[in-house]
Amino acid sequence: MAAGTILVTGAAGFLGSHLCDVLLAEGNHVIGVDNFATGNADNLAHLKNEARFRFEERDICQPFDCGRVDGVFNFASPASPIDYMRLGVETLLVGSTGTVNTLEIAKKYGAAYLHASTSECYGDPMVHPQVESYWGNVNPVGPRSVYDEAKRFSEAMVTAYNRYYNVNTHLVRIFNTYGPRLQANDGRVISNLMMQGLRGEALTIYGDGMQTRSFCYVSDLIDGIVRLSKSDEHAPVNVGNPTEFTILDCAKEVQRLLGVSGEIAFKPLPQDDPMRRRPDITRAKALLGWEPKVLLREGLALSVGYFKQCLDKEAAPV
Ligand code: UDP
Repeated sequence: MAAGTILVTGAAGFLGSHLCDVLLAEGNHVIGVDNFATGNADNLAHLKNEARFRFEERDICQPFDCGRVDGVFNFASPASPIDYMRLGVETLLVGSTGTVNTLEIAKKYGAAYLHASTSECYGDPMVHPQVESYWGNVNPVGPRSVYDEAKRFSEAMVTAYNRYYNVNTHLVRIFNTYGPRLQANDGRVISNLMMQGLRGEALTIYGDGMQTRSFCYVSDLIDGIVRLSKSDEHAPVNVGNPTEFTILDCAKEVQRLLGVSGEIAFKPLPQDDPMRRRPDITRAKALLGWEPKVLLREGLALSVGYFKQCLDKEAAPV
C-alpha cells in the first residue's frame, strides 16, 4: 500500500501511540485523535515537531470529519478493567456511537478501516486456546459487560459496514499486550507487578494465581495489526502471543528480572475474571505470515526502563 493519510483514534493511548509511530515510520501522514479519557499526552510528546503528524483533541462520540483519509484505525476505548469499570457508560458509547462515527468516515472517503477488538469477546472461554470461530462465554450484565459487549457490538457494526456498504474493514482481536507506555497505574497485572516490584512492595495476585494469560510485547502486536490492515481479510483475526503463563509464573518472571524475592499478597479474584486465555494464531500465521518474536522475559526487560521512569515521576515533587 502506498503511503497515505491515516486517522488513528485513541492516538494518545498505549497501543494508539505505538501505532502512530509505526505508520509515520512507513511514510504516512497521521491524524491522531483522543479525548484523554484514559490517553496520556506524554505518549505523543515526541511527535510535537513531526510535520506529518496532526493531533485533534476530540470525543469520537460526536460526529466529525477530519478531511480525506485513506485509512482509519479505531483504537479509542478505555481498555483496562479498572478504567472501563469506572467509565462504564462512556465505554459502551465509544464502542457503539464512536465506532459508527468512524465507520462513516471510512465510508465517506472509501478508506480502509481497522477496528481494535479484543480477546474479551470470548469472555471466560470454554474453548481453549481461543479460535476466531468460537462465539464466546460473556456475561452480558456483569462488571466486564460494558467493555465486552461494546466490543462485540463494534464487531457486528464493522461487519455490517463491510457487508452492506462494502467498506474494506478489518477486525483484530487483541490479547493481553504490554510494553513501554502501558499506564503504570491502570491496575493491570504487568503494570501492577512491575511497579510493585520496583517499589519493593509485595506483588498482588488475585485468586490463587493459577488463572492464565498470554502476553504479547507491543512491537509484535503492532506489526501484526499493520499487516492485517494491508490484507484482504474482513473476518476477525486473533493477534497475540500464544505462550501461556499462570499469573503466578508471570509474577516470578517479574521477580527474577528485578532481582527481588519479596512476598506475594493474595487478594480476592474479581468477578467474571477469565480463568484462562490464549490465542490460537493459526489464521494470523497463514493470512499475515506473522507470529510474535519477543519472549515475556525479553519484553519485560525492554519495559523496565519505562516503568522506572514512571516511578521517578511519582516520586518527583509537584
Ligand atoms: N491480576 C493479578 N494481580 C494484579 C492485577 C491483575 O493477579 O495486580 C490478575 C487478574 O485478576 C487477571 C490477570 O491478572 O486474572 C490479568 O488481569 P489484567 O487486569 O491485566 O487484564 P485482563 O486480562 O483480566 O483484562
